[in-house]
Amino acid sequence: MSQVDVNAGHGGALGGALPTQPGELPLTRRLRSLLTWPTTETEPVGQLVRTHRTIHAGADPAVLRRAYTIADNMHRGQFRKSGEPFITHPLAVAQICAELGMDTTTLVAALLHDTVEDTRYTLQALAEDFDHEVAHLVDGVTKFDKAFYGQAAEAETIRKMIIAAGKDVRVLIIKLADRLHNMRTLGVRSAASRERIARKTQEVLVPLCDRLGIQTLKRELDDVVLLHLEPDEHARIARHVHDRPGWDGYLAEVVAQARVALRRSRVDAEVKPRPRHLYSIWKDTVAGGHTAPFDLPRITIVVDGPATDCYAALGAVHGLWRPVPGRFKDFIASPKNNLYRSLHTSVCGPKNRTVEVLIRTTEMHRAAEFGVVADFRFPRSGGATARAGQLDWLRRVLDWEQDAADPAQFLQSLRCDLSEAQIQVVAEGRQIELPAGATPVDLAYELGTDRGDRCLAARVNGRLVPLSSELEEGDVVEIFTETDGESSLDAEVAPRGPRREWLGFVKSPHAQMQINRWFAEHSEPGISISDKVRLGRATIGLALRQYNRGLASDLPLLRLSEELGYPDLETLLVAVFDRVIEPDAVVCQLIDLVDNRQ
Ligand code: MN
Repeated sequence: MSQVDVNAGHGGALGGALPTQPGELPLTRRLRSLLTWPTTETEPVGQLVRTHRTIHAGADPAVLRRAYTIADNMHRGQFRKSGEPFITHPLAVAQICAELGMDTTTLVAALLHDTVEDTRYTLQALAEDFDHEVAHLVDGVTKFDKAFYGQAAEAETIRKMIIAAGKDVRVLIIKLADRLHNMRTLGVRSAASRERIARKTQEVLVPLCDRLGIQTLKRELDDVVLLHLEPDEHARIARHVHDRPGWDGYLAEVVAQARVALRRSRVDAEVKPRPRHLYSIWKDTVAGGHTAPFDLPRITIVVDGPATDCYAALGAVHGLWRPVPGRFKDFIASPKNNLYRSLHTSVCGPKNRTVEVLIRTTEMHRAAEFGVVADFRFPRSGGATARAGQLDWLRRVLDWEQDAADPAQFLQSLRCDLSEAQIQVVAEGRQIELPAGATPVDLAYELGTDRGDRCLAARVNGRLVPLSSELEEGDVVEIFTETDGESSLDAEVAPRGPRREWLGFVKSPHAQMQINRWFAEHSEPGISISDKVRLGRATIGLALRQYNRGLASDLPLLRLSEELGYPDLETLLVAVFDRVIEPDAVVCQLIDLVDNRQ
């Protein structure tokens, strides 16, 4: 791309010619984020181009320089709270994307991600200077104006971002990189705003990152959130990790012994120490009620072969060191919700110390580290099915997004869906993750919309339970639906559908939305309250006739409605019509009332 094209396209955004330079100092990423704008580096995109081309050798650096020059000109005169020129921020965001292995288009959008929000540059100019793809990515991360939208701005912005990510997931990658850099540089902000931003990151963006399977980014976000929310704890864990006598030597010994054992078993594999990140140590320390930071030596074994080699490696490890009972988990046979796959075991290692071992194939390792990003980083490798699954989640979120009444409700549902408190239950032979407090109805909808709509009863660990009962970790659940039993004989009968009272106890936004949708589709708009009252009364009359009974007066019904806590008889009859209460249940209580208390 020539300089002439550049100047023609962006409508005067370019200032002077690009400075060139012979060489740059090799600064590490971390140093770069700590240092002020490096004066030694005369081509600011040099580092970015180099990082990008180590992963994508054929990438064209010209478009990156062009994007940088426009961003630099647009942000000229703007400064960050730290006093640095603003352009350092988009450059750092692009650098994070480059290190993840994202494509050139993403880096271009990252360089320009704040121009539309904070400068006079428009989306239209962006689309003309680059293309609609870049414009879409930048638009996806552009916030709604607080001055215009007020309180709703934040929720609106997240909703917009999720919708944009549904079309192109790179929107979310840029947003996550943007937040990571902002979090790294929060130090200059007030304590209150540091905490506020860190909490929001922890609530929505970190779990989003987890759902997309980008562990490499999540680790850093986790740690920087801990730094801002619990600075003393962060310092304590960091100190502990820093001075652990003999730790490195011990791990080297474990790795060496494991390598020998694998070679003997003819398993080709790479063995490495796998340090936990600070947040994960802190979480286990708190969860286990330990006073000293709790961390076990951990290694990964990445086998160079099919999944069956993982089990061969497991055999070699268990032959070398005695496994700790109850610690083996097979996430290959039952992947986690975010499709994480690996074997986990703990063994009694050298000197009788417990060692954690993770075993996976190269493909699983890439997916575990990079998630949806793996498609961009390793464009020619397989495994697209796993990523398609990760995007399924996003699609489902978009599905109930359409049903959400407003952005605040959507954000609330998103938070619930992303909440870390999850339980795993077993149903239809697979492990299914549900929000803590979920009921059999939540599970039924997780198994499929139709299963939910036709859900009749549930058996948990072999016993029938009410549909409203809370499931617990490890429960084995069977869901019975209308079509499971003999009721399928009367195919003429319309499916009875979900109950309104389910809305009172379901936990997952997915189930909630599906139930609401059913009622929206099945409500008859022409029907009036008085019709409902009439039909409700007729329903009870029909049910009574099955017991060869009839109603002489309204009096028993009136008394029953009082006893059941309804404000009046009409409300009870409407409830019967709406199937909030079963006609059979009303009739049984009615007969009981008449026979035993009159
Ligand atoms: Mn930004």
